[in-house]
Amino acid sequence: MGAHFLPRDDVAIRAGYHSPQVSVEVRLNTNESPFPPPPEFLDALAAEVARVEWHRYPDRAAWDLRVKIAALHGVVPEQVFVGNGSNEVLQVLSLTYAGPGRTVAVFEPTYAMHSQIARIAGSDVAIGARSPDLSLDQGEVRRVLAEHTPAITYVCSPNNPTGMVETPETLGEVLDLVPGLLVVDEAYAQFAPWSALTLVSDDTPLVVTRTFSKTWSMAAARLGYLVGPTWVVAELEKVVLPYHLDTFKQAAGRIALDFVPEMERRVAELVEERGRLVAELVDLPVEVWPSSANFVLFRPVTRDGDSVWHDLLHHSVLVRNCSSWLGLDGCLRVTIGTTDEDDRFLAALRKALA
Ligand code: PMP
Repeated sequence: MGAHFLPRDDVAIRAGYHSPQVSVEVRLNTNESPFPPPPEFLDALAAEVARVEWHRYPDRAAWDLRVKIAALHGVVPEQVFVGNGSNEVLQVLSLTYAGPGRTVAVFEPTYAMHSQIARIAGSDVAIGARSPDLSLDQGEVRRVLAEHTPAITYVCSPNNPTGMVETPETLGEVLDLVPGLLVVDEAYAQFAPWSALTLVSDDTPLVVTRTFSKTWSMAAARLGYLVGPTWVVAELEKVVLPYHLDTFKQAAGRIALDFVPEMERRVAELVEERGRLVAELVDLPVEVWPSSANFVLFRPVTRDGDSVWHDLLHHSVLVRNCSSWLGLDGCLRVTIGTTDEDDRFLAALRKALA
């Protein structure tokens, strides 16, 4: 083999994103919706695709899509920034407000991409610990913010992978303390009782990120956005690549927003199914965390999580293996699927724990 040209030192030492994409019958590992979007969405999208001028660049500002997102949340389009999945939104945030010489704060265990993206952007990452019950610890928040003066502080609510939602009081306190931007990642907010969107204004250093990947049943499209102060959105627009959001995707997003009641029905169905799944889980020898999202974190108490994960896979059921993550010894995370999928999961889990 010839000589390799090496990447940046800080990239060379990093591992990539770990979430096995294996072919299984029951896929409950990435918190997607188990339901496709409605057929009327697909028909409307097909009609729109027939009208796309493929030889032309997309609308660089994605204006019509931002107008519709803004209307949904009662803000102005200048407060909305859209990207290829909320991951790209998080990346552009880090490129704009963090990077070399700046620090990003996270409270583990939480969504791994917050720190991963920050590091790849060249930022330092300050890691705070959550309480033993995995809730945010205000004393620890104070310590991390005072010691590190982070440019960006991340709070994920409902938190992935715990499923727990922060209260308005807790978020308000964090917002009062942050020396930079507070980014509240609300990828799962439609499953939760409240949203930090109500706190967004031009006088507040708060942005809220959302995604079409979960409740909107559109993980294939890669579309996400943030709602925040106009002065944040204006800076992000300088950093993101021109024409980053293709015409097809902008149309998909606009049309999806014509189906809000259908989305809300799917969410209600999943919330009910979550109740059923949790009720079944608590009868098994597992520890279960309360969830306000479309997934549930649990820890087998009679066997180690890693071997249970392999047993489930053996039954063609794929869940997320969090057993080696910081603070999550032996834990697994299961996405709420259809009733049939969840029954398959429960049957396989019962066998594994018998
Ligand atoms: N934030 C959180 C908390 C997530 O769990 C995910 C998806 N796993 C994302 C952001 C990224 O979502 P997407 O890029 O698909 O919008």
